This record gives sequence, structure tokens and C-alpha cells, in this order.
Amino acid sequence: MEPHDEIENVLPPEALFWAMEPFGPPLGEAACSTWDLKRFPDMRVQQAAFDGEPAVPKRDIPQARAMCHTCPLLDGCRRYAQDSRDEHVFLAGETAEERRKKWRKTGEIAKRRRRVAELYALNVPTAIIARLLGHAERSIRSDLYELGKRSHLPPTA
Ligand code: SF4
Repeated sequence: MEPHDEIENVLPPEALFWAMEPFGPPLGEAACSTWDLKRFPDMRVQQAAFDGEPAVPKRDIPQARAMCHTCPLLDGCRRYAQDSRDEHVFLAGETAEERRKKWRKTGEIAKRRRRVAELYALNVPTAIIARLLGHAERSIRSDLYELGKRSHLPPTA
């Protein structure tokens, strides 16, 4: 792979997706995938709440939160929510705004390094990693240097 190659033409889309989001969304039977008619008047209202656009926030957010607390995927969803830094949808019992308040610079660095490690393992050149992640190549080299010194990465949040 050369730095001028288009990454999408060289790596399968799934490989690129998982490298960019090593903690992807949890797989399995999510509570929010089924309409809970005791909590929401209809499926569209429930969907809007989980899409981060609740029709009546005071009513819908607590209901969505309660659904998450019964969800078998809660732990994985929480990890994905923290790591993805999604800025819109309701995930793991929290609004995007509630999650944003917990963000730390160390989490941002940890996420970038996790992505660097995954892409590097796929033999993606540092110039392409830099382009994909929107950082200078010297930052990517510095990340690789730091990754080489540690056996694990700190948690993202
Ligand atoms: S924890 Fe909440 S947002 Fe995440 S999958 Fe379960 S119900 Fe959906």
C-alpha cells in the first residue's frame, strides 16, 4: 500500500470500519430494537427518543433511560458510547450532552491511539493513517512510539 492509494480501494470496508471504531456498537438483542408500548405511545416516539430527538424530553428521556437499564447489551453499549464520542443519539442510558460532560483529553488520545494501532496492524502506512485521522504524520509516529512502550491503553472516557 502506497501513501497515494485511496484507502477505500485497498482495504475492505468492514476492515476499515472496525479499525476506525475498534469498540463498535454491541451486537445482539437490544432493548431499544423492540417497541416498549408501556413506555412509549408509539414506535416512532421511541425511535425519536433514541435518535436523540425526543418529542417530549421530560417524558421520553427517563423512559429511554429505564429501557437501557434493562438491556442485556448495556455494558457494551456504554463502552461504545464512550469510545465513539457520538454527539447525537441516546446511548446506554445517557443523552449525548450527558456523555459529553464526561469527555476527557486523555480519552481522545486513547481513542486516536487505538485507531492508530488497528490501522498499523493492517499495514496502513503512517501517511495514510495521518490523513484518515486528520493529524500530522509526526503525531502518528509519536503515537506508534508510545504504543510500543505500553502493554495496554487507558480507558477512553
Ligand atoms: S443500552 Fe440502551 S441504547 Fe444501548 S442498545 Fe441497549 S437499549 Fe439500546
